[in-house]
Amino acid sequence: MSLFPTYPRLPITITDGEGTIVRDENNDEYLDFMAGIGVNNLGHRPIMVQRAIEEQMNRVWHVSNLFPIPAQEEAANLLTEHSSMDAVFFCNSGAEANEAAIKLARKHTWKDKIVTFHQSFHGRTFATMAATGQEKVRTGFGQMLEPFEYAVWNDKASVEAAIDENTAACLLEVVQGEGGVRPGDQQFLEYVQAVCNEKGVLLIVDEIQTGIGRTGELFAYQTVGLDPDIITAAKGLGSGFPIGAMLGKEYLKDDFGPGAHGSTFGGNPLSATAAKATLEEILREDFLEEVRAKGTYIKQKLEKIVSDLPAVKEVRGLGLMIGIEWDHEAKPLIEAAREKGLLVLPAGPNVIRLLPPLTVTTEQLDAALAILDEIFHDKKST
Ligand SMILES: *Cc1c(COP(=O)(O)O)cnc(C)c1O
Repeated sequence: MSLFPTYPRLPITITDGEGTIVRDENNDEYLDFMAGIGVNNLGHRPIMVQRAIEEQMNRVWHVSNLFPIPAQEEAANLLTEHSSMDAVFFCNSGAEANEAAIKLARKHTWKDKIVTFHQSFHGRTFATMAATGQEKVRTGFGQMLEPFEYAVWNDKASVEAAIDENTAACLLEVVQGEGGVRPGDQQFLEYVQAVCNEKGVLLIVDEIQTGIGRTGELFAYQTVGLDPDIITAAKGLGSGFPIGAMLGKEYLKDDFGPGAHGSTFGGNPLSATAAKATLEEILREDFLEEVRAKGTYIKQKLEKIVSDLPAVKEVRGLGLMIGIEWDHEAKPLIEAAREKGLLVLPAGPNVIRLLPPLTVTTEQLDAALAILDEIFHDKKST
C-alpha cells in the first residue's frame, strides 16, 4: 500500500454514516462512540450542515482571504458572542490553531517560553510537538523548538516553578484528552489562572478536543470559570469539514495585523459555512443542557457498571468526554467492544475513551452501556 504507515488501521472500512450509526462494507452496523476522534459532534452528516454546505457548493467554493468572506465573519461572530473572546483567526487544523496561539503569545509579550504539562497533546508540527508533554511524540525529530517547559498536571508548585521572566504563556487542556481524559482540578485551574494573572503570563486554553459543546458548554473553560487570553478550537468545529480557529482577546488584535500571520485555505467559504452551521446547531436552545444531562447519565451508569470491578480505577471526564481507567490494557476491551458493535477509543495504554456524538440518544447510550457492561465483566479475570 502506498501510504506512510503513520496510522495502524482498524480492520473495518466505514462506508456510510448517519447520526451515531456507521456501517462498514459488509453492511455491519456500529455505534460510533469515537466520532472521528471528537469531530462528528453533531453525528454523521447532520442535515443542517449538509444543506448549508450544498448551498455554498452551488455558489463559490474558495476565495482567498484577500476578499471579505461573509460566512467566516458570521462564524467568528457566533464564536465571540458565545465566549469571552473578541477576535478569531481561522486555519485548517488543531495544530495550526495552536501554532497561531504560540506565535501570537510570543509576539504580544516579546517573550519566548511556553509552559505546558506532562501528558498534554497539542499537535504534530514543530511548535506543537515541542509543546506536547509526551516524549513519544517528540523522539526522533532532532532539536525541538525552544523554550518549552512541562509542569506536572494538577500540581500547583510545579507551575509556579516553571514560570520565569521569559515566560510568554501557559498552555493547557481543561481535560487532557490524548493524555488519558484527565480533568484539571478546579482549585488547580484557578491557581494557574491566578499565577498567570499575577506574573503577566498569557493563559492559552487548548479547546481542540474539549470545545464545540463536547464538555457541556461551548468551551470547557466556561464550565470551570477560567478567563483565558487565547483559546484554540478545531475537531468538532466543522462537523468533519476541516477547519481550525484561534480566538483571542481584544488587546491581542493588533499583534496579528496585516502580514503577521496567514493561511490560504483558513476559513474559506466552504469550511466557514460548515463551522457556521455547526455552531448554530450547538448553540440552539437546550442543546448544551442536553449534552450535560447525557454526560451525567452515562457517567453515573458507568460508575454503577464498574462498581464491582476492583481493576477499574476511575470513571472520569466532563460532559460527553469520558475516560474509564483500569489496571489492564485498554486494547483488548476496545476490540471486544468493536466485535459487539461499539466503537470506542483508547487514551493512553489503560484508558477507554468515549466521545459519542453530542446528538446521541438515550437509547443509544443504553445500548453502548449494555455492551460495556458485558465486555468489562467478560474480561474481569484477565
Ligand atoms: C487533536 C488535538 C490537537 C491536534 O489537532 P490536529 O487537527 O490533529 O492538528 C491538538 N490539541 C488537542 C487537545 C487535540 O485533541
